[in-house]
Amino acid sequence: MTGNSNFRNLKETYLFSEIAKRVEAFKGANPQADIIRLGIGDVTRALPETVIRALHAAVDEMGDATTFKGYGPEQGYSFLREAIAAHDFASRGCDIAADEIFVSDGAKSDTANFTDLFGKGNRIGVPDPVYPVYFDSNVMTGHFGVPTASGFENLHLMPCFPENDFKPAIPTEKLDILYLCSPNNPTGVAMTYDQLKSWVDYALANKALILFDAAYVAFIREDGVPHSIYEIPGARGCAVEFRSYSKTAGFTGLRCAYTVVPKELDVSDGSGGTLNLRKMWLRRQTTKYNGVPYIVQKGAAALYTTDGQAECKERIDGYLKNAGAIREAFAKRGYRVWGGVNAPYVWLGVPEGQTSWEFFDTLLNRLHLVGTPGSGFGSRGEGYFRLTGFGSPERTAEAVERLSRL
Ligand code: PLP
Repeated sequence: MTGNSNFRNLKETYLFSEIAKRVEAFKGANPQADIIRLGIGDVTRALPETVIRALHAAVDEMGDATTFKGYGPEQGYSFLREAIAAHDFASRGCDIAADEIFVSDGAKSDTANFTDLFGKGNRIGVPDPVYPVYFDSNVMTGHFGVPTASGFENLHLMPCFPENDFKPAIPTEKLDILYLCSPNNPTGVAMTYDQLKSWVDYALANKALILFDAAYVAFIREDGVPHSIYEIPGARGCAVEFRSYSKTAGFTGLRCAYTVVPKELDVSDGSGGTLNLRKMWLRRQTTKYNGVPYIVQKGAAALYTTDGQAECKERIDGYLKNAGAIREAFAKRGYRVWGGVNAPYVWLGVPEGQTSWEFFDTLLNRLHLVGTPGSGFGSRGEGYFRLTGFGSPERTAEAVERLSRL
């Protein structure tokens, strides 16, 4: 066979292996050091009690021939899709039907797999810095086209920097596909209603598709920040939305997420006809995927009970409290900080003259704290640093205490 040579165009991802290497080397030289990890991109609290009860009950159902479930519907069980439509969308005035919701094993796989639906020659807008999956999945499929001196012929990087509050500016040229993530990983910033409306208006005017990643929606605490892109009029005609129970409900190890593809999303077939994205995604999923386990979907449905909602909120409030404390500690010391209000991520500008990796070494060597260099999220991330509120309250408080020595 011949291999997919697009893989040659992927950049090596040194980020997490390099962090591990530096931490190991430091530990080797300083075995007594009490290292606190503030770079964790995973939840640390156990699953909500209501979810655990639902999982146990579903396991028992699987052990009884009268309630046992084999292959389920590829799109997800209707008990979960109906709950999603009612609680996540109708409650916020969004008109999303259960058959526009596709339950899956993750927003990572869905955002990456959605590239199966792209035709050739689309100009693709990707923010910089960014959640790397949007970028790499397009490199693997070859959708960015031929590599050029500055990137790829069909890749349009949308720079994010302090002057635009780390939110990309509306493009001045015509793009066909746009990735947006709000609240954002890695910067922690969230788009306001008016900002998101400008993107929807741009997409409608340019017949572009927005791929909206709302994996951190449950962290939104401020008014004026939309929880779904479908709160914006017209979004049904130009946007797909990705959601995940990973960070919102502690499902990173259990795996459950969903994607919304409205029925009216017709796109050009490149030769005068149209293709319906919902039908294509349904076909793609039924061909390549057999659905999330029944047990896991029962666990996810339990999140929509009153107790499930309260238990999730309590956990997220805790993560946000940690993020807020980290943000405050750096702000007090004169650092430029973003995020940590509607997201578990705090993004900070490293001191003048240092690179992201030099700042990593400073925090590790002086305070025994580990974070994530912003340069790992794209070239515009150089000079910035990501910290997270996913640690325990005690360890985060200890880290904040150490920051007073910075
Ligand atoms: N989207 C963003 C922006 C993320 O940060 C992450 C996880 O870190 C994901 C998607 C992946 O979510 P999942 O665990 O559902 O695959």
